[in-house]
Amino acid sequence: MHEMSLAQSIVEIVENTAEANNTRKVSKVKLIVGELAGVEMHALMQGLKIASQETPMEGAEIEIERPQGTAWCMMCQKTVPLHRRGDACPECGSYQLSINGGTEFRVSELELGDDE
Ligand SMILES: [Zn+2]
Repeated sequence: MHEMSLAQSIVEIVENTAEANNTRKVSKVKLIVGELAGVEMHALMQGLKIASQETPMEGAEIEIERPQGTAWCMMCQKTVPLHRRGDACPECGSYQLSINGGTEFRVSELELGDDE
């Protein structure tokens, strides 16, 4: 499962960061997952729950930012919103699109330590 390996790589990043900061607890993890990153959110959350067990990330609050997908339309000669790969241009119906935004997938912020 694709999302499971993504989840594992996130947990690894979080673990390494926690270790580098000499903390055993991460209270919050902020992720950026673009609309066109090709990630199934439900599966990712499930994966994170499993992969974070017995790591500093266990029980951490997970916040996800989802930048909108965009693509350059050859026909319109401009950037248009695109919510799913394989969709047509919402303005002219063309499929001559080149994705130029919303594919990012990364950890953007970590809050270390307990809440109190
Ligand atoms: Zn178009």
